[in-house]
Amino acid sequence: MQILKGYVFRMYPTEEQEQLINKTIGCARFVYNYFLDDKIKEYKEIGKSKSAYDQAKLIPSLSKEKEWLKEVDSQSLRNSLLDLERAFKNFYNGSGYPKFKAKGVHERYKTNNIKSSYKGNHYNSIKLDLKNKTITLPKLKEVKIRGYRNKEVIPGDIKSAVIKKEAGRYYVSVLIEEPLIRPPFIPRSIIGIDLGIKDLIVTSYNEKIENTIKLNNKRLIGLQRGLARCKGGSKNRYKMKLKIQRMYQKIKNARKHMIHDITNKLIKENDIIVTENLDVKSMQKNHYIAKGLNESPISEIIRVLKYKANWNNKKLIQINRYYPSSQICNICNYQNKEIKDLSIRKWECPVCHTNHDRDFNASVNIMFEGLKKYMKGIEQAI
Ligand SMILES: [Zn+2]
Repeated sequence: MQILKGYVFRMYPTEEQEQLINKTIGCARFVYNYFLDDKIKEYKEIGKSKSAYDQAKLIPSLSKEKEWLKEVDSQSLRNSLLDLERAFKNFYNGSGYPKFKAKGVHERYKTNNIKSSYKGNHYNSIKLDLKNKTITLPKLKEVKIRGYRNKEVIPGDIKSAVIKKEAGRYYVSVLIEEPLIRPPFIPRSIIGIDLGIKDLIVTSYNEKIENTIKLNNKRLIGLQRGLARCKGGSKNRYKMKLKIQRMYQKIKNARKHMIHDITNKLIKENDIIVTENLDVKSMQKNHYIAKGLNESPISEIIRVLKYKANWNNKKLIQINRYYPSSQICNICNYQNKEIKDLSIRKWECPVCHTNHDRDFNASVNIMFEGLKKYMKGIEQAI
């Protein structure tokens, strides 16, 4: 079995390489917009339009007219057409025409690893050298990179790379197909986790993990006021915009790190992880809960847990979201319907008189419910 993994590196292009990257991003955008216009016209006239494959055949003649298209990585242009085709599929599904790409938004291009062999030697158009900290990309040749300090080599096949410009910095995200060898799954530990707002996670080992990422609103408001004071098109305005972009990026990165730290720990320490199958969208409709959830990384945590469990031969079990995990006493199984009220954080079981912390009790119930589900699965398999 093979799995696809993405690795993101910061890139340090020379001035010349930087110019070429910007040019390629520009050309990819031009091709996207040019053929989008073409597609819309065609669609209005005859009710259908050319496929990306047929459009790609037109690139050589277009390049005769626009010579600068020849200077950039031709894969980037073809991938632009595939992006366009995908966007147009959504249009067929009922949303409006795809939008034209504007400069400064989603500055990126994609290139594929083209393999070839000549006289018994094999060549790749994309090469990653972690020892010398370089990546070789079509037309750009060797670019300096940073990231994954502890790895000397990443085994597997490079499929493609996306070159991105974000807030004046350059990144490359490399997609690698890695072989996956699975030993038999023999679980030795299980954990239930209750996902929430104030405490992001409460586990059935009574660990509480808080959401540590908070937006520095004061600073953001200050920066935005500053931006409003700067004249349009001025250098100061550009600088101020960059500052705001960097601030958002910093929060985004901190969030990513937090999610990876939490999920890595859970995956490393447990063989089976049980969560509720939460419907985050409908939770957002519930006002009391919605307050903290806009910024909540819950659905991202579940998404990451899913793929990390898969990679590491662990199991993520999701139980029915309507299972009343908060209401059931995990000692005597009595169901206390009064606990529906979300403001009750602590309660005493009227039957066995155990004092409960709402979320800890819920996480223990979630763990047992997951264990039941797992055992059922095994019985059915036997
Ligand atoms: Zn009880």
